[in-house]
Amino acid sequence: MTKAYEGPLTTKYIGTPNDLFDQSDDFWVINWPRTFTHHHTYGLLTPFFKGLTEGKLMATKCTNPECTENSTWLPPRADCPDCYARTEWVQVPSEGKIYAYTMLDYAGIGIEMETPYWQIDVQIDGVDTIFKGWLKQGKPVTGMPVKAEFRTENPTHTILDICWVPK
Ligand SMILES: [Zn+2]
Repeated sequence: MTKAYEGPLTTKYIGTPNDLFDQSDDFWVINWPRTFTHHHTYGLLTPFFKGLTEGKLMATKCTNPECTENSTWLPPRADCPDCYARTEWVQVPSEGKIYAYTMLDYAGIGIEMETPYWQIDVQIDGVDTIFKGWLKQGKPVTGMPVKAEFRTENPTHTILDICWVPK
């Protein structure tokens, strides 16, 4: 067994001093930058994100003959919420119509987008759900035909690899 070092040490501070963000006589608030890398698995939903990088919109469909719904899901679901069977991957049209829209002034964490932008809900033939996205250019109108644009070069490997443009 290796014996732990027990001799004298000279220890240095190797950090970067934090600035004061705010201060009063009673309290201080410091700037304390933190960073981390989050390893996030897409698990069984990986084909959806892989499809975006290949210019394809991949949904999942329940094909269980005993299912009462046999819905097609986008965003995809690995298991059917109606019958709990494993779903199957299907490619769906990368075009649709605007079902609803709203202007986003504050993007969520991880949504690396300039604001404001138009968030749109897209109705796609053969899909039983409404797919949320963002309009890259133009002004949305309910019922307006749109087509998907995919970030196949320099993909982010996130949902930001798809956006919509007027058709
Ligand atoms: Zn089902």
